[in-house]
Amino acid sequence: SPVEKNDFIRQIIREDLASGKHATIHTRFPPEPNGYLHIGHAKSICLNFGIGLEFAGPCNLRFDDTNPSKEDLEYVAAIQDDIRWLGFEWSELRHASDYFEVFYRSALKLIRDGKAFVCDLDADQVRAYRGTLTEPGRNSPFRERSVEENLDLFQRMRAGEFPDGARTLRAKIDMGSGNINLRDPAIYRIRHVHHQNTGDAWPIYPMYDYAHCISDALEGITHSLCTLEFEDHRPLYDWCIDQIDLGGHPELWQPLVEAGLKTTISKPRQIEFSRLNINYTVMSKRKLMALVNEGLVAGWDDPRMPTLQGLRRRGYTPASLRLLADRVGISKQNSLIDFSILEGCVREDLDANAPRRMAVIDPLKVVIDNLEPHHEETLTFANHPKNETFGTRSVPFSRELWIEREDFMETPPKGFHRLVPGGEVRLRGVGIVKCVDVVKDGETVIEVHCTLDPESRAGMPGADRKIKGTIHWVSARHAAPAEIRLYDRLFGVADPDNDEGGRDYHECINPDSVRHVRGYLEPAAAGADAEQNLQFERLGYFVADRRDHRDGHPVFNRTVTLRDSWAK
Ligand code: ATP
Ligand code: MG
Ligand code: MG
Repeated sequence: SPVEKNDFIRQIIREDLASGKHATIHTRFPPEPNGYLHIGHAKSICLNFGIGLEFAGPCNLRFDDTNPSKEDLEYVAAIQDDIRWLGFEWSELRHASDYFEVFYRSALKLIRDGKAFVCDLDADQVRAYRGTLTEPGRNSPFRERSVEENLDLFQRMRAGEFPDGARTLRAKIDMGSGNINLRDPAIYRIRHVHHQNTGDAWPIYPMYDYAHCISDALEGITHSLCTLEFEDHRPLYDWCIDQIDLGGHPELWQPLVEAGLKTTISKPRQIEFSRLNINYTVMSKRKLMALVNEGLVAGWDDPRMPTLQGLRRRGYTPASLRLLADRVGISKQNSLIDFSILEGCVREDLDANAPRRMAVIDPLKVVIDNLEPHHEETLTFANHPKNETFGTRSVPFSRELWIEREDFMETPPKGFHRLVPGGEVRLRGVGIVKCVDVVKDGETVIEVHCTLDPESRAGMPGADRKIKGTIHWVSARHAAPAEIRLYDRLFGVADPDNDEGGRDYHECINPDSVRHVRGYLEPAAAGADAEQNLQFERLGYFVADRRDHRDGHPVFNRTVTLRDSWAK
C-alpha cells in the first residue's frame, strides 16, 4: 500500500490506540440530505472512510435528517450512489431520525435535571437577549420555570399543541459565556412538517448541535470529524454528552435496543479540520442549488458542476478525487486549492489509465493523391504508449482522411510545425505526407491534397526520417460522427464568491464553459461503453457521456485538456 498518512487526526488515533483509550476506531460520514454531494464532501468521505479502512474500524453513513423541510429522498439515493462510486462502503446506514425517541427522552432528562427549559421568546427576542461577541446575553424571563411546568410544556410541544415557532426548548447553560453557542442554545423547535422517515409523528425537531453529539454517542463513534466552523460548537457538544450521560442511563436508548439497532455507547471526541476550498467554483449547496434552479447549468450533474455527480459525468474518476484528497491532506489550516491541482489529479490518473484513441473535433478533409480511390488498410495501434497490457487495436486507414483544421495553415507563422503548402508532416502511425495542393471555397480551405512517401512507412528504410510535426487523423470512410462537448471551468474568475469587480457569482459564469461540436471518431472510440475514459490523442481526456452516449450515437465530454491552458 502507499505511504502511510500521518496527519494530526491520524496521530491522535494512533495515540488513542497505543494508550488503550480505544480498542477500535469508529467514524461516520454525516451528510444532510438537502442537496447533492460536492467535491468538498469528498474530502470528508475520504477522511472518514479512509480511516475506517486504514485502522480496520467501522465507518457509518448517517443521514443527518433533522431539518425535514429542506430534505428529500432524491438526495438520499444520490448520496449513497456517490459514496459507493468513490469506492467506499459503509458499515451501517443510519438516520438521525432513527434516534428521535432517544433525543426526546434525553431532553426530558435535561429538564428533570434542571438543565433545560421551555422558552416563549420569539426568534427576534431570542436574538436581542443573546448579546454580542463583546456583550454578555441576558437571561430569558422563562429561564426559572419550574421543572413541572417545563415538563408539562415540553410534553405538550411534543403532542402538537402549539404552532410553529411558538416555543423552544433551550439548554440552560450560561448567558454570560464568552462562547455564544453556550448562551442557552435552543435544542428543540416546533415544526409541523412531514418527515421522509417519521411522517407526521413529530411536530418538534431537535437542533443540529443537540442531535449530532447524541447520534455519535449512540453509534459508538470514537472520533467525530467535522470542519473548522464547528470548533466553537465543541463545548456544547461536550456539554450535551456529559449532561445526558447515555452510558449511565440505558433507559434513554432502550427504544433502540427494542428496535434491534446495534447500540454501543461511546464518549465521542469531536475533532475539526479545514474545509476543502477550490478556486474557480462555488461550493455551498445553496449556491449550487441556485445555479440549477435558475437554469444557469443543465442540472445537478451538469459536467461543469463541482458536485460528485457533475464531476463523474465530466469524466473525473474516483481515483482522481481520492488522489486530490491525499494531496490536499488534513490540517487545521484554511486554504484555497488551485483548480489546476484538481485537474492535475485527473490528468495523472487518466494518463496512466485511459486508452488512447484518435478523434478530430474540427475536421478538414485530406486526400492522399497517390493512393488508389478504394485503398484501404488496417493498421495496428498500441492502446497505451507506456503500458503494453492495454494491448492493441485496429485502426482503418484509407485515401481520404479528416485532420484537425488547426493542423493546416496556408500562411503559417514562424515555428508552425504542422501541415503547410509544400511542407511535410507525419501522419500518426502511417508515414510522412507532403501537401501538394489546396482546394478552397472563397477564403476557406475545404480540402488539402497530399502525397504519402512510401519510403516513410513502417518497416521501410525512411520510416525514421526526422520530421518536426506529427498530427492525428481519422479515416473519412470509417469515421463515426459524434457529438463532442467541450467543457471548461464554470466560472471565469478565481473567486466567484467575492468577485473583485463586485459582481454577483451569477455574473461570473465563464461564457465559454461549454461548447458543443460535431467531430469524427475512429471506430474503436465510437464503440466505447458509456463512462469509458479515453485520451483523444493531442486533444485531451474525454469520457463517453453516462446519460446520452449510446450505440450509433456517440457523445463525449471533454474532462480536461492535456496541458494546463490556464497557467499564467
Ligand atoms: P454546505 O455548506 O455545502 O451546505 P454542509 O457542511 O452543510 O455543506 P453536510 O451535508 O452537513 O453539508 O456535510 C456533511 C459532511 O461533509 C460534514 O461533516 C461537513 O463538515 C463535510 N463537508 C462539507 N463541506 C466540506 C468541505 N468543503 N470540505 C470538507 N468537508 C466538508
Ligand atoms: Mg451541515
Ligand atoms: Mg451547510
